[in-house]
Amino acid sequence: MTAPHARGETPSSGAGVVVLRHLGPLRRQIEAWRREGLVIGLVPTMGALHRGHGALMAEALAACDRVVVSLFVNPTQFAPHEDFSAYPRKEADDLRFLEGVGVTALYAPDAETMYPEGFATTVTVSGGLTEGLCGAHRPGHFAGVATVVAKLLNQVRPDRAYFGEKDYQQLCVVRRMVRDLDLDVTVEGVAIVREGDGLALSSRNAYLGPAERAIAPELYATLRETARAIEGGEGVNEATAAAARRLLEAGFNGVDYVACVDAETLAPLAKIGVRPARLLAAARLGGCRLIDNLPVAARP
Ligand code: AMP
Repeated sequence: MTAPHARGETPSSGAGVVVLRHLGPLRRQIEAWRREGLVIGLVPTMGALHRGHGALMAEALAACDRVVVSLFVNPTQFAPHEDFSAYPRKEADDLRFLEGVGVTALYAPDAETMYPEGFATTVTVSGGLTEGLCGAHRPGHFAGVATVVAKLLNQVRPDRAYFGEKDYQQLCVVRRMVRDLDLDVTVEGVAIVREGDGLALSSRNAYLGPAERAIAPELYATLRETARAIEGGEGVNEATAAAARRLLEAGFNGVDYVACVDAETLAPLAKIGVRPARLLAAARLGGCRLIDNLPVAARP
């Protein structure tokens, strides 16, 4: 449990949460659990934890004997103009959150542990999964995500890994990577946790000022009505164009996309068929980029 780290570090433990910062102690801990035949769950996060992350942890705790939450604000998934340095970092609060939830371990590596000098490998998922939607607006983002998730899965070697439907395209990318690379892990998708007014919880919601916060729930309201219109027979292109207009009228200062796609391949759909579909949007509100999505019922 408290195997010393190669650099002399001993994993710390606050009210039952073991804090691991380096690969050596992490691997020894995982090995010890494996020898006991325990089922290990991983919840990757970038911290600033909220109830959305908590839902992933709750599912992991229900299905696994030991749950590791990783906290790493991954620089390679941020484009140069994005909010890497401003991204909220609240490790002390996060540790208290984990203690409250009953998670077993926090793995919080530094950039040097994740990307040591000379790091030269990138995992790229293509096949239509990363070229559109957020991929079209965030160059390099999904290569950064796939690479760091591949590393975390190899480092922790969990039986199950938990990802939110909040980042629906990310979930699809991770599922495909795991399938294509024969990674020995079950990927679990967890439903979006929302505020009472429908706004999907996000660490970035902290960027919203009061006026923007009042407008923000319009993203989900618009998606819900658009999904209903498409399910009712309205053309996909007309419905998504109307949704983008409605968001701009509501006060969003830019709409990156509103799109209806195949729920698994993310291929754009002109009309709803028998396969499950998903409606996704990304829109900018002040300095904050909000994303949201929801299912669209297939037509039998
Ligand atoms: P992040 O820290 O934003 O990278 O998110 C870590 C994980 O939590 C990702 O798998 C997200 O999809 C998931 N997540 C974030 N917000 C929510 C939410 N509101 N509901 C469900 N899952 C979420």
